Amino acid sequence: MKSSFFIPSLYVLFTAFSLPAVAQEKALNLYSARHYQTDEALYANFTRQTGIKINRIEAKEDELLERIRNEGAKSPADVFITVDAARLAKADELGLFAPVKSKLLEERIPRNLRSPDWFAFSTRARVIIANRELVKVEDVQNYEDLASPKLKGKVCSRSGSHPYNLSLMSALIAHLGEAKAEDWARGVVANFARAPKGGDTDQIKSVAAGECGVAVSNTYYLARLLRSEKPEDRKLMERIAIVWPNQKSYGAHINVSGGGMLKSAPNKESAQLFLEYLASDDAQRYFADGNNEWPAVAAVAVKNPALDAMGKFKADSLPVATLAKNSAAAQRIYDRAGWK
Ligand code: FE
Repeated sequence: MKSSFFIPSLYVLFTAFSLPAVAQEKALNLYSARHYQTDEALYANFTRQTGIKINRIEAKEDELLERIRNEGAKSPADVFITVDAARLAKADELGLFAPVKSKLLEERIPRNLRSPDWFAFSTRARVIIANRELVKVEDVQNYEDLASPKLKGKVCSRSGSHPYNLSLMSALIAHLGEAKAEDWARGVVANFARAPKGGDTDQIKSVAAGECGVAVSNTYYLARLLRSEKPEDRKLMERIAIVWPNQKSYGAHINVSGGGMLKSAPNKESAQLFLEYLASDDAQRYFADGNNEWPAVAAVAVKNPALDAMGKFKADSLPVATLAKNSAAAQRIYDRAGWK
C-alpha cells in the first residue's frame, strides 16, 4: 500500500523538478564543499555572464565524494569542488574526473597547481604556530624542527589520517625521502603533548592556552581568527607566533582548493565554461577571499588584511599532483609511526 503510493508521487516530483530545467535552459550541477558568503556573488556572476543556471549541492568534502561514487554513471554532478590535493587525488584515483583540455586554464593556472584532470583555484599554506612563552620561535623555523628532542611534550596535532597532514607528509616524502620522513614522524610523535585530536582551530586554541607549545595549522584558520569580530578570538592570536616554515630551504607547504569536471557530467560544455570562469580575475578574487586563501592565478591579487598581516613568504613549488601521488605512502608512514 505504502509503496504503490510512494512511487508515483516520487515520479511526479522528479519530472516536475527536472523537465523544465533540462528543456528550457542550460544548467550546471555543482557539487561543492565550499559554503562562504562570497559564493552567492561568485555563482550569480557566472549565471549573468553565460545564462547557465547553477544547481548547487553543498556538503562536507568526504560526503560529496561518497555521494558521487554512489551515484555512479547516473550522477547529475557536472563539477566537483573540494579542498586539499589528497582529496582531489582520491577522486582522480577513483576515475571520477574527465580530462579537460583548455588553453585558457593552462595559461591561467600555474603548472604546479593543476593535473590533467583537475585544477587548483586557490592556495593555502600549512604553517607552524607557537606559544611565545613556551617555545623559542627560532627553535621552530622548519617542519623538521618539530621532531627535535627540544620540543618533548610540546607538540599538538590533529590526526595523521586527515588530508591536511597526509599532504604535508607527502611533501616531506618528496623533499626528504621516505626513510627520513618516517624518522621525522616518529620524532614528532615522541614530542606529542597529547594524543592527536580536533581540527586546526583546536590546535590554535590549545597553543594559545598553553596546553601545547607548538602545532601546525592552515593559514585560513589563522586569518579567520585574526579577522574575527569576537575580541576573544583576536586575543588568542596575540599569544601566538606564526612561522613561515622552511624559508631557507624548500618553502612553506602549500595546498589547494580545486575541482574538476566529472566523467559522468551530463553538461560537459557548461562544466568546462564554469571551470574557465573560476580562473577569471573576479571569480579568483571571490573564490580565494571567501576563505582567506590566495588566488591560484598569479596575476590576481586579493586585499585581505589578515593575510597581508602575515607577510610575504616563500612557498614550496612542489607540484600539488605530487602530493596526491604520495598520499598512500604518507598514510603508511603515519600508521607505522603511531601518529593516529
Ligand atoms: Fe579546512
